[in-house]
Amino acid sequence: METKIIDGLALSKQVYVDLKNRIRKLKNIGITPGLAVILVGESSASQIYVRNKVKACEKIGIISKQENYQENIVESELLNHIYRLNKDTSINGILVQLPLPKHIDTHKVIEAIDHNKDVDGFNVINAGLLMTGNPLFCPCTPYGIMQILKNENINIRGSEAVIVGASNIVGKPIAMLMLQAGATVTICNSKTKDLKSHTKRADILIVAVGKPGMINGSMIKPGAVLIDVGINRGLDNKICGDIDLPSVKDIAGYITPVPGGVGPMTIAMLLTNTVESAERSIKDQ
Ligand code: NDP
Repeated sequence: METKIIDGLALSKQVYVDLKNRIRKLKNIGITPGLAVILVGESSASQIYVRNKVKACEKIGIISKQENYQENIVESELLNHIYRLNKDTSINGILVQLPLPKHIDTHKVIEAIDHNKDVDGFNVINAGLLMTGNPLFCPCTPYGIMQILKNENINIRGSEAVIVGASNIVGKPIAMLMLQAGATVTICNSKTKDLKSHTKRADILIVAVGKPGMINGSMIKPGAVLIDVGINRGLDNKICGDIDLPSVKDIAGYITPVPGGVGPMTIAMLLTNTVESAERSIKDQ
């Protein structure tokens, strides 16, 4: 079987065409969507992620406001910056780049963001709304995965979906979205016994762990749809995912490559959430 490599970059470009149109309409009535991106410290990975998000905003006409703070910023000061941005009517979305330094309570910081501006969809109100089937903002990576599946016309209803990884930002929310779309969902974590017995059953296998090549050809069902969320640096120092692409090729039906699969769609969905937030702000006026 020939495996289709899903082009997430091309799909993200289609999303941007639609967003540009929506932004044009907003600008015609005097509104320019605004995203505030907060970066604490100088982690090079975080700097790259933030730069990519800011660049993507600029390309499509979203105003991005990047705020950089020193690694040793005190928690109360960081919270005050968030409260200020909550009140700033030119800002429709607030994103705090994770991870934060250890002396800062990440949960407290995420909860400080007004849930109407929580475009990452991480705070408890948005997690609850997603869980109960009325999402205000879907977390960007799961949202992007659902768009990929939709664009490829993958049948979710009645399928066996196996999620490897159970984080609050990827594993749990994608499990909820798949369940709501009618899949029978299994969520695996680091304590799961006999991982292969689960992954082998999957019509749709979504892997978000952070271990290069942890899923190989012997662990999948022929024809399965494989969504690789992992971003790792391989032994050759190149970026790679959690799925060993050469070994699953010609067994899987579809796979998202790393890079060029889920990653570009995650950023596209962040900007989608920001534009949606700006559109909602008109209705709230
Ligand atoms: P976390 O570290 O928060 O979670 C990892 C999950 O994997 C945990 O639930 C953990 O289990 C589980 N796990 C660890 N080892 C195993 C194992 N051997 N078998 C089964 N499950 C295991 O990671 P994130 O969800 O934040 O990120 C996962 C990966 O996705 C990373 O590589 C990250 O860089 C990438 N990522 C990519 C994005 C993109 O845009 N493409 C966006 C976000 C993340 P337990 O709960 O028991 O600890």
